[in-house]
Amino acid sequence: MSAVPLRKHNGEPTAQRVVSVLGATGSIGDSTMDLLRAGRDRYRVEAITANSNVEALAKLAREFDVRFAAVADETRLGDLKAALAGTGIACGAGEAAVIEAGARPADWVMAAISGAAGLKPALAAADRGGMIALANKECLVCAGDFFLDRAAKAGTRILPADSEHNALFQALSSGNREELTRVIITASGGPFRTWTSEEIEQATLAQALKHPNWSMGQKITIDSASMMNKGLEVIEAYYLFGLKAEEIDVLVHPQSIVHGLVEFSDRSVVAQLGAPDMRTPIAHCLGWPDRIPGPAKPLDLAAIGQLTFERPDFKRFPGLRLAYDALRTGKGATTVYNAANEVAVAAFIGEKIRFGAIARLVEATLNAWISGGHLSALTCADDAINVDHNARKMAASLLPEIAAKAS
Ligand code: NAD
Ligand code: MG
Repeated sequence: MSAVPLRKHNGEPTAQRVVSVLGATGSIGDSTMDLLRAGRDRYRVEAITANSNVEALAKLAREFDVRFAAVADETRLGDLKAALAGTGIACGAGEAAVIEAGARPADWVMAAISGAAGLKPALAAADRGGMIALANKECLVCAGDFFLDRAAKAGTRILPADSEHNALFQALSSGNREELTRVIITASGGPFRTWTSEEIEQATLAQALKHPNWSMGQKITIDSASMMNKGLEVIEAYYLFGLKAEEIDVLVHPQSIVHGLVEFSDRSVVAQLGAPDMRTPIAHCLGWPDRIPGPAKPLDLAAIGQLTFERPDFKRFPGLRLAYDALRTGKGATTVYNAANEVAVAAFIGEKIRFGAIARLVEATLNAWISGGHLSALTCADDAINVDHNARKMAASLLPEIAAKAS
């Protein structure tokens, strides 16, 4: 007996879960496969996908004896077939095959392809019913309304896998929507947290890729350095939890221990804490609605000693300001924001622009989009895909001018 009743497990043994992992060879994919490996008897893997790394994909396919493996790069079909010869594992290549992987019957799908390229496979998974653990924030920023709409129509449950949103998901169960006054997502501040604007302007790729706390894929690591990642996450929170822009705050927290906080009307603030290890939020999604053992180190707050917080600096990190602007503008502006950022990050990796020009290209694309009269209410996912396509073209056309201009 406990004086304060704790929720009890229903005593039913957890049924085996059939899972698929979109983006299995990436950073989130790797953490997910790690958890699946640790719980081999509880999961059966239906489908996995990769962009072009056939060797890693085939290795995972064999290890987990999956039913279907898909590689996005069509030219690698022969290699994939050869690597899976004699296994009986079905495989495919190209965008359609990756979409098929998302559509195959599974109880739980991890959506961890990076960028808007993950939208169509995630939509296929959303149409299927069951659960989606959503890591791919860009698909919400690109087409949030339609993605959620398709999921709701099919009865698909979206489980936020991004650490901040997973924290909010956990904390939100402490109160009702009407009692919520605001949510706060934390940001590490990235490698340039204490740098001046001039230093940030000149930052190199190697410097941008040195994240202080998290080990992640290349694109999100650069987004973290520019704080575009936090901008994308503000928009992600808006869609996931049906919030207003003014209900979403960002707090810089260099230790990355407190991931998200929810404030209720009585001024209670409920937070979720944990070591900066993506296997914790992924484990929460994988076990949901129950909890499964997670491999992250137990949190030792005494050893950490101090948790510190700062207000974000919208001047040095204009990408964050632009996200709020895009959210308030609506009518496809967040789709443009994401598309322009993807073009800008690729240009920075290709050494075509300076680090500081990433936000300038996003701002210039948004301005040109709006002044060109292209804003219009999106009515379906295909509208969002078209805006994404056209905004990329516009960003690419503005690129030479932005690249030529010093700050
Ligand atoms: P990553 O670059 O390490 O992996 C991306 C995966 O997607 C790989 O399997 C890659 O092969 C595949 N992929 C890339 N482009 C593709 C394409 N055009 N078509 C099909 N497959 C493609 O990225 P990541 O860090 O694992 O991030 C994945 C997603 O999760 C991103 O949306 C990111 O914002 C989000 N996320 C990542 C983290 C993290 O800690 N890494 C945390 C929160 C959210
Ligand atoms: Mg995050």
